[in-house]
Amino acid sequence: MIKRSIKAKILLFYTVFFGILIALNILFIVSLSESSLVNEATQKIVEITQHAAYDIEIEDDGIKMDADEDDFEFYEDGVLFLIYDEQTIVYGNPPALFDTTLPFTFSEPLREHNDQIDWLYYDIALDSQYVVRGLYNITNIDRSVTQVINTLLILSPILVLFSLGGGYLIIRRNFKPLKSIYHTAEDIEQSKDFSKRVEGVSNPKDEFGKLTKMINQMLDQIEISINREKSFSSNVSHELRTPLAVMRAQLELTLEKAGKSPLTSDLNVLMQQLFHLESIVTQLLELARMRVLTKDDLEPIDLYDTALYVGESMSHMMTKKNLTFFVIKPDFDPIISANQVMMVRLFTNLIQNAIKYNVEQGRIEILFTKTANEIHIDVKDTGIGIEETHLNDVFNPFYQVDSSRFNVDKSIGLGLSFVKEIVLLHQGSVSVKSIKGQGTTFHLIFPLS
Ligand code: ADP
Repeated sequence: MIKRSIKAKILLFYTVFFGILIALNILFIVSLSESSLVNEATQKIVEITQHAAYDIEIEDDGIKMDADEDDFEFYEDGVLFLIYDEQTIVYGNPPALFDTTLPFTFSEPLREHNDQIDWLYYDIALDSQYVVRGLYNITNIDRSVTQVINTLLILSPILVLFSLGGGYLIIRRNFKPLKSIYHTAEDIEQSKDFSKRVEGVSNPKDEFGKLTKMINQMLDQIEISINREKSFSSNVSHELRTPLAVMRAQLELTLEKAGKSPLTSDLNVLMQQLFHLESIVTQLLELARMRVLTKDDLEPIDLYDTALYVGESMSHMMTKKNLTFFVIKPDFDPIISANQVMMVRLFTNLIQNAIKYNVEQGRIEILFTKTANEIHIDVKDTGIGIEETHLNDVFNPFYQVDSSRFNVDKSIGLGLSFVKEIVLLHQGSVSVKSIKGQGTTFHLIFPLS
């Protein structure tokens, strides 16, 4: 089924309805005008013929007009008179195209169509011998009805077009707030920036105005909750740093005092866990503090150079696994306006994972493509891959497919949360595709402007 917009549906209904209304109007007007014109002509021919009959007197030697015979008008107000003596016309000039032999009917006027001419005729018997016949050419009635139809046929499409245009403008104007609501929602969905609000509502008191007000109030609430949550985790992490630092200092002191006693190895385990806890708290604090980027945080960054630099700085880790690393040089400069520290962090996390989850003698490849207004980056590896059921969750903080990795390399599941947060702060998007046992590809998109 074709999906039409609400605007198109209303417009279609409105136009069809208006079209039917106009068509019915035309039928009504035409039938009404034809019957009323014929009625009027019928009345007229009866009246005028009766009046003429009144002016004619019958005498022994024939008939006599009330006035002088020469003055008698054989044509009055469109009606022409013929006087018959039995079947023969004795007075009056019959029109060439009228059949004068038509039988008399005295009850009511009759219509006769002859050679494209429409006649109305009416007979009155003056006595048993003489008859006066009134003749009225009503061809013009048909013509005027045809004229009305033609005019309406020309006018109706113009009227429909006008109504369509007018309707479209009114609907477009009134649906503008809906468009604005839709675009704001889409904007927020893409940028995750809850400080955006629906704007451009012309009438705050109509339905859309009220809806917009409600949506903006809801967005206020959501923004407050998000900020509260961010400041809560930021505060908690901040508050934890001091006692942790104190604990570390105290533990270092105790370790010194313990010297070579059997307690030392236990204290060393405690120390390692403390370092790790501190690292988690620092990362959490950093994640919570990532807010909207201002213009001052941004500069033109060449993503190819950044990926190459980060990869090379991690080459010692790749060598350990005999990995091959490629950053394919694009035939354009993949430069975007970004925060350099964040971009280094982003590539570090992705390449680190590509190394961590790769197989011996595996491969890591980074390639750049470009559309009219976006830069696309693929970070591919030939590693262990991720099962489909986990793909939606890997960007969530602390999510790990295999939590036992903590014992292997102190992984805590925050790397991809940083990647996602950084991408969103740069108005971009990130997705992942993977085949278990074959490899994983992270696909990043950044707007060019
Ligand atoms: P971690 O510290 O566990 O690496 P991340 O947030 O970086 O945390 O990644 C979350 C999870 O996603 C990881 O535990 C891992 O299971 C999976 N993952 C991330 N990158 C890859 C990759 N390149 N190949 C396979 N699995 C990956």
